[in-house]
Amino acid sequence: MLDKVLIANRGEIALRILRACKELGIKTVAVHSKADRELMHVRLADEAVCIGPAASAQSYLNIPALISAAEVTDSSAIHPGYGFLAENANFAEQVERSGFVFVGPRAETIRLMGDKVSAIEAMKKAGVPTVPGSDGPLGDNGDDNLAIAERIGYPVIIKAAAGGGGRGMRVVHKEADLLAAITVTRTEASAAFGDGTVYMEKFLERPRHVEIQVIADGQGNAIHLYDRDCSLQRRHQKVLEEAPAPGIEPEARAKVLEACRQACIEIGYRGAGTFEFLYEDGEFFFIEMNTRVQVEHPVTEMVTGVDIVREQLLIASGQPLSIRQEDVQVNGHAFECRINAEDPRTFMPSPGRVTLYHPPGGLGVRMDSHLYTGYTVPPHYDSLIGKLITWGDDRELALTRMRNGLDELLVEGIKTNTELHKELVRDEHFRQGGVNIHYLEKKLGA
Ligand code: ADP
Repeated sequence: MLDKVLIANRGEIALRILRACKELGIKTVAVHSKADRELMHVRLADEAVCIGPAASAQSYLNIPALISAAEVTDSSAIHPGYGFLAENANFAEQVERSGFVFVGPRAETIRLMGDKVSAIEAMKKAGVPTVPGSDGPLGDNGDDNLAIAERIGYPVIIKAAAGGGGRGMRVVHKEADLLAAITVTRTEASAAFGDGTVYMEKFLERPRHVEIQVIADGQGNAIHLYDRDCSLQRRHQKVLEEAPAPGIEPEARAKVLEACRQACIEIGYRGAGTFEFLYEDGEFFFIEMNTRVQVEHPVTEMVTGVDIVREQLLIASGQPLSIRQEDVQVNGHAFECRINAEDPRTFMPSPGRVTLYHPPGGLGVRMDSHLYTGYTVPPHYDSLIGKLITWGDDRELALTRMRNGLDELLVEGIKTNTELHKELVRDEHFRQGGVNIHYLEKKLGA
């Protein structure tokens, strides 16, 4: 078992990782910026190290500072959480080269999945269904590119191989616009990601976002933990998630779950990961893989009973998977509302001092948050301040508990998006289940 883990993150996920470490008897090191001395997990960790000023580039993204902190505290491993350096292959490599365990996949796997063209290629080879597309990067020959679009059929989407966070994409509806769109996307991708590689996919017009959680030990064993629906998004940011995804065609689901599990074995995947799909008309289409723990992992934990962060730590300790696929069952239904410090109408961030914090409770109610009364939300980072997760025997009960939980949640002194969630969980279409990825933005625009 790992002896001491350095948590290279902040906020709710740092606290989540700390809890999993404590359960396993692993000592913890919190690292924090100068603006984050008051974070809850910093108080609870066995040791704390200040790694730099408020700006993330000089603290949470500062690789030498993180590795030095691991050295001075004699840590055995680094858990990157999500965001920041979690999907940075160079970081993973430097961590391991410095003699620490990186809690995540091997650097080469992160690199493979970080390039969407190579990720799609690897998944296709492993039998995972992908979006009809250019099957590789686009070249410079205009006629060839026009022919590819013709074969796929308009509308198409041009995407940057190195893109992320919903950036570096352009939808093309007609032939006359294609070549200019490729040029612009290529130029933007070079500037933003330092890599002008672009590819083409069929643009699906009303898909749902359905993703599959996997865990693999890098020793030939892999399991899937079923699926989640994260279709409620605003500007490609997920807002509210649930597990399992409602109303999925059972045969297509069974096939894709097994394909993901097999793909993990084939690529020698290690750790927790997520295969993201678009789902339309009963079919799954792979778009990318996330090689880290995700914000929405708790909904899967609630319905499967598997502690995903604990499994990450066990795998990082070198242990083979202890759970067999046949032992994983979906029990009931779970929702997660992402609580952000922001104005519920304008979505402007709302940092500041929390004058009162009262989390909801009761059976089937889980609040993952680093907030406490008197805590000041700094203005420098992501606005996520907590996640309210509810579980029930069925979708209706989980949703009722979410409505009640949101009514109980009190965060005073700053603005939060709780009112938006209260509206969403009472929305008639959402209650029926299965809305597509455009639903929330359309509703907000109306
Ligand atoms: P990122 O890494 O930036 O999140 P993704 O490839 O996951 O990029 O795509 C982000 C979002 O863009 C998807 O969740 C979906 O809303 C939209 N999108 C991507 N590819 C397609 C496609 N082929 N058809 C329709 N929408 C797409």
